[in-house]
Amino acid sequence: MKIGVLALQGAVREHRNMLQKLGAETVDVLTPKDLEGIDGLVLPGGESTTVGKLLLRYNLLEPIIQLGRKGLPVFGTCTGLILLAKHINGSDQLRLGLMDMHVERNAFGRQLASFEADMQIPVLGTEPFHTVFIRAPYIEKVGETVTVLLEHEGKILMAEQANFLVAAFHPELTDDTRLHGYFMKKCKK
Ligand code: GLN
Repeated sequence: MKIGVLALQGAVREHRNMLQKLGAETVDVLTPKDLEGIDGLVLPGGESTTVGKLLLRYNLLEPIIQLGRKGLPVFGTCTGLILLAKHINGSDQLRLGLMDMHVERNAFGRQLASFEADMQIPVLGTEPFHTVFIRAPYIEKVGETVTVLLEHEGKILMAEQANFLVAAFHPELTDDTRLHGYFMKKCKK
């Protein structure tokens, strides 16, 4: 299985390591050609306004939108979640806009710019998952076709819709491979 990791910004190496640990071959995506033959695509964290502009400049925005519409599994963490959302509250920044959800950026307030917590994520089993949030967004509301996978204090933090999976936190910054494993199962279908 070959998984692309968008390599414009963010924790590219950490995602790559996780996927390789689980037996996937990986490719850093910087050009449209890098998208050829991949079975899935990971969109790492970073700064979503910057990554949106870079996607356009590197001619990746439209090709990824097309592949996503055709069913390519895409896993977005943090900035990746923001880029996948159709609606970004108060912002007209560039995006892929493939998932029917409203997101709020930098939504945990300044004092909570970065925090960690153990959370129960039913689809990953009974063992709590250590979640790392860095200037994280949350999902305010989702459309009917989106399944909520984690909600905490009224904020949706993980969701999926058909071939798309998103998390507001950074699973690549832990040693827990379960979430990447969950994504890779989507890539096999
Ligand atoms: N605050 C960032 C944004 O708006 C996301 C932060 C992250 O990816 N860790 O894009």
